[in-house]
Amino acid sequence: MEISRMDDAALARIKALQPELTAIRRDIHAHPEMGMEEVRTAALVAETLRGWGLEVTEGIGKYGVVATLKGRRPGQRAIGLRADMDALAIEEATGLPHASANKGVMHACGHDGHTTMLLGAARHLSQNPDFGGTVQFIFQPAEEGRGGARAMLADGLFDRFPVDSVYGLHNEPGLPLGQFAIRPGPAMAAGDRWVVTFRGTGGHGGASPHLATDVAVLQAQFVMALQTVVARNIAAVDAAVISVGAIHGGSMASTNVMPSEMVIGGTARSYTTAVRDMMERRMRELATGLATSFGCTAEVFYGRHGEALVNHAEQTQVAIAAAATLAGAEKVEGNAPLITGGEDFSLMLKARPGAFMFMGIGAGGPSSEGLHTPTYDFNDDAIPLGVGYWVSLVEQELGSVGDGA
Ligand SMILES: [Zn+2]
Ligand SMILES: [Zn+2]
Repeated sequence: MEISRMDDAALARIKALQPELTAIRRDIHAHPEMGMEEVRTAALVAETLRGWGLEVTEGIGKYGVVATLKGRRPGQRAIGLRADMDALAIEEATGLPHASANKGVMHACGHDGHTTMLLGAARHLSQNPDFGGTVQFIFQPAEEGRGGARAMLADGLFDRFPVDSVYGLHNEPGLPLGQFAIRPGPAMAAGDRWVVTFRGTGGHGGASPHLATDVAVLQAQFVMALQTVVARNIAAVDAAVISVGAIHGGSMASTNVMPSEMVIGGTARSYTTAVRDMMERRMRELATGLATSFGCTAEVFYGRHGEALVNHAEQTQVAIAAAATLAGAEKVEGNAPLITGGEDFSLMLKARPGAFMFMGIGAGGPSSEGLHTPTYDFNDDAIPLGVGYWVSLVEQELGSVGDGA
């Protein structure tokens, strides 16, 4: 693939935005809001974009904001660029001057950085609209398990703001600053929550265990049998996780009593529907089959939460080309490992072709701490890189973003 490096003058203009963007990032960081509570953040985003002359629509899927920008050259194509705006229920422990002023809530996943970088791209492209077609800047609420992508899609996101393809970007503290990583096809997991309730007669564990049906022995068999699902029902080349996270039953105040009920719960992760279906089916078979053999009953809840994130092949190549144009081909890993975490951008990728890129922000300081930890902070030095990636992506998709002027 022919990779031409990004225009120096464009890069210089993007870098010049950094002080203003850093101030915005720290302001958002200091005022984090939980998913579906992004009143201030959404208003800040909308006001800032309007101030820069963009056409803005608010209230999509509650607090979602979309800004629309048409290029000054002719073109019918449209692309969506998406950032998330929500924070987490974590008590911040960075001690930074811009630390959270909202007790118990923290931007520990860098969505403050994501929002800022997309704002920066809107700023730059609105001043340099030398492309053909339309860019939809999508600011999504509630990525962290509160259904923001689903809400925006249900509110007609892609009907009201049509796009041919859609792209997402996430920071990665485990990667050095300036490196990019992506993989085509399945990339991030679907995370399911399951709960199995075993019921038996219970009884006196000391005097008359033979008169009872024992859910304690049953659950022990079940936990062991569960290990065979990944080992023996999932192909070795496929990836899956089933873990037990909680077992509850009986009472420490009366350990001579056999409980009549035990509840086991956990998580299951997968990357394809076939693997997901297999895990649910085998879990039900093992729970009910074992329960029957012990004279007990089983009730199985298997809750499917979100979808595996699957990058489309063609758009993954576009994303790789965009990152390589910005940072150099040697800084882009195009076949990154699977990630067992989840992302609700997966739903947008089910609706439109697209790709989700990771950008390194690590190597020193709070930006090297893991995501979702109390000492994490987004690395402001990454802001121009993120803006540059978005601008480069628009150049790839909608033609050259030239000198502007
Ligand atoms: Zn997160
Ligand atoms: Zn995140």
